[in-house]
Amino acid sequence: MVAYRHLGSSGLKITEITYGNWLTHGSQVEADTAIECVHTALDLGITSFDTADVYANGAAEEVLGRALAGQRRESLEIFTKVYWPVGPMGANDVGLSRKHIMEGLNASLRRLGTDYVDLYQAHRYDYETPLEETMAAFADVLRSGKALYIGVSEWTADQIRSGQEMAGQMGFRLVSNQPQYSALWRVIEERVVPACSELGMGQVVWSPMAEGILSGKYLPGQPAPEGSRATDSRGGARMISRWMRPEVLSAVQALRPVAQDVGLSMPQLAIAWVLQHDFVSAAIVGASRPSQLAENVQACGVSLPQDVMEAVDAALGEVVERDPDRTQSPNPRPA
Ligand code: NDP
Repeated sequence: MVAYRHLGSSGLKITEITYGNWLTHGSQVEADTAIECVHTALDLGITSFDTADVYANGAAEEVLGRALAGQRRESLEIFTKVYWPVGPMGANDVGLSRKHIMEGLNASLRRLGTDYVDLYQAHRYDYETPLEETMAAFADVLRSGKALYIGVSEWTADQIRSGQEMAGQMGFRLVSNQPQYSALWRVIEERVVPACSELGMGQVVWSPMAEGILSGKYLPGQPAPEGSRATDSRGGARMISRWMRPEVLSAVQALRPVAQDVGLSMPQLAIAWVLQHDFVSAAIVGASRPSQLAENVQACGVSLPQDVMEAVDAALGEVVERDPDRTQSPNPRPA
């Protein structure tokens, strides 16, 4: 059963498995399948959904809005984000300025077909806008009722501390951070997690399966399976390419006996590993078809003994990324 966890120290409860639609809805996956995935998620007890204005340039929010139409709004937790360039990508269609936050949120609400989102997140840190302007805009967003909670994504520990201090001066709190986190990508553990835990912020983590790599379906030296993200020319193949290295794919195969020993599939082991950490409020999983969600939710409620956690570390060895300096907000418009 998919359990609820508090989002950090806030009163909001979210499902420990949240369904996210980056690279899938409005892109890799046809609308019918996307809607079927959302309905399957609901049937499985997932009520929290993560999207962003930038995913498929607005199309992902639209598909999610259509899929959730007719559901009782109070029984859903909808998260979206602002920062990356959207729409026609004009000078102000990017970043965390007051103008873009206000206009971006209104556009997201229109596409999602709802009056408010539960969690509105700064998708990265904006070096061009004064933090004070961003936080003042978020304070007004909360007062307007168009978002109920505010979070950040991929901010460094120092940025999170400064943001939380300024939020406090403006009468609100940042409740969450959305970082990448999986058995292969552990860069938040040294600095970001201790800062957030001290400040009462939960981690809503992305790519818990390293985009599908930890499912074990990509075999070293062999073509990627038909229909997988690594074969998706609309963006997926480019994004996952950073993981498609022989040493990573070989190390992942060493997880197969570890999963077998505890009676889990490899996707389930990857997600159960993430959910063992009590600083994790939710693992945001992706899925290109309903059957993946049905398999992945079986990771809920699994308790992995310490020796299994150690066996995962031993299998992955040196390919695990731990460098805390890898938490970054790159230029949103690289040359
Ligand atoms: P995952 O690591 O969960 O990868 C999901 C992909 O893995 C699926 O789309 C599918 O791809 C494959 N997969 C899933 N289940 C299985 C299975 N049982 N067997 C085999 N393959 C499987 O997460 P994502 O990378 O999709 O990211 C999840 C969410 O995180 C996003 O939708 C978004 O909401 C959020 N995110 C946030 C970011 C941020 O900057 N804040 C950045 C990136 C993501 P396929 O079938 O095509 O191979």
